[in-house]
Amino acid sequence: MRLSLPRTPFTLSRALTTLGLAVALFSPAALAVGDPAVLINEPTIKAALDAAKRNEPWTLEEQIRINEIPAPPFKEEVRAREMERLFKELGLKDVRIDKEGNVIGVRPGEKPAPNVVISAHLDTVFPEGTDVTVKREGNILRAPGIVDDTRGLAALLNIIRSLDEGKVRTAGTITFVGTVGEEGLGDLRGVKALFRDTLKDQIDFFISIDGTSINRVTSAGVGSYRYRVTFKGTGGHSYGAFGLANPIHALGRAIDGIAEIQVPRQPKTTFNVGRIGGGTSVNSIAFEAWMEVDMRSETMVALEAVKEQFMTSVNSAVEAENKRWGGRGNLSVELELVGLRPAGETSQQSPIIKATNAAVVALGLQPIHSAGSTDSNVPMNLGVPAVTIGGGGSGFGAHALDEYFDSTDSHLGPQMAILLLAALTK
Ligand SMILES: [Zn+2]
Repeated sequence: MRLSLPRTPFTLSRALTTLGLAVALFSPAALAVGDPAVLINEPTIKAALDAAKRNEPWTLEEQIRINEIPAPPFKEEVRAREMERLFKELGLKDVRIDKEGNVIGVRPGEKPAPNVVISAHLDTVFPEGTDVTVKREGNILRAPGIVDDTRGLAALLNIIRSLDEGKVRTAGTITFVGTVGEEGLGDLRGVKALFRDTLKDQIDFFISIDGTSINRVTSAGVGSYRYRVTFKGTGGHSYGAFGLANPIHALGRAIDGIAEIQVPRQPKTTFNVGRIGGGTSVNSIAFEAWMEVDMRSETMVALEAVKEQFMTSVNSAVEAENKRWGGRGNLSVELELVGLRPAGETSQQSPIIKATNAAVVALGLQPIHSAGSTDSNVPMNLGVPAVTIGGGGSGFGAHALDEYFDSTDSHLGPQMAILLLAALTK
């Protein structure tokens, strides 16, 4: 944390929040950003918006080409190198790949701050070997990953090119990022590294392009805990060794407890035992049984509460099973945290959300807000103003092999991002 050199009111307010001081010290004027309703009529912005529409056929070609470079979980490198090449070709400065694998490129403004990060994720949910060839029928592009999040990556390219063609000059700086590890067990590792190391304390606003429709705005991040729980015992013959504590019976007791957990409806909080396994044969007392459990909530407080109840269920199950058999069988349990996505929310009154809403309205639509699980979870949890927006067009069947993208009016995605960036770097 840079306490000595606050670069913007936002960095300073963050520093003060960390010190436990009131952020209300600042007048609303200090937090002002540009108004998309006004910016849409500025000549350079207008030119950039026109360029975004003109560049959309090229953008779709790039979307197809990038999609056909496979990017399975933890194997985003080839796609990252191609994005690195494109960032350089399109004139970004200081283009690099960080230690975690994120691609970064800078479009400098007059000043280094405010620094607005706009990103899309490189990884897909699809394993190596999945056919990612794109089939195109008019406006419809079919392929796994074509929406989530190749559309986001393609939108970034359109934005970079269109800002340049419009000769847009900004006071603040824009940093373009392709993140790794957004999906599943990637566990947001790319964006976590960005805030922890690569751009630590240098991000004033964070925008993720994930999804399509521009009126769908994600301003809250659903947090989650994922655990793999393994019950272990001595194991033995079901008849000959009868009387040992049984890992599968303990698993059953734990699931019984979890099934009775009470959660609030608001904030929406959920739990699920998603997979179970264990045992070797019908006539053996198992030496091992396991389950995978997912818990989610819109707030960290509720998420911690459901996790507490889950832990209690697991520990009580071990205790009860050991007690039942007088401790014979050495029953124990191991908990492995396999996923942690922090929850958070960007206030509806914050400048980034107001500017996002205004940008959607300026393009003739009405924003609809929801909570989601995206790269924005991390900044939202840290108190950095963040939002997840759509990249344009419409998406169907994300995470399924029959995923497809409808490019009707898809230029609206880059246009909305350009308005939002112009407002935040004003
Ligand atoms: Zn995504």
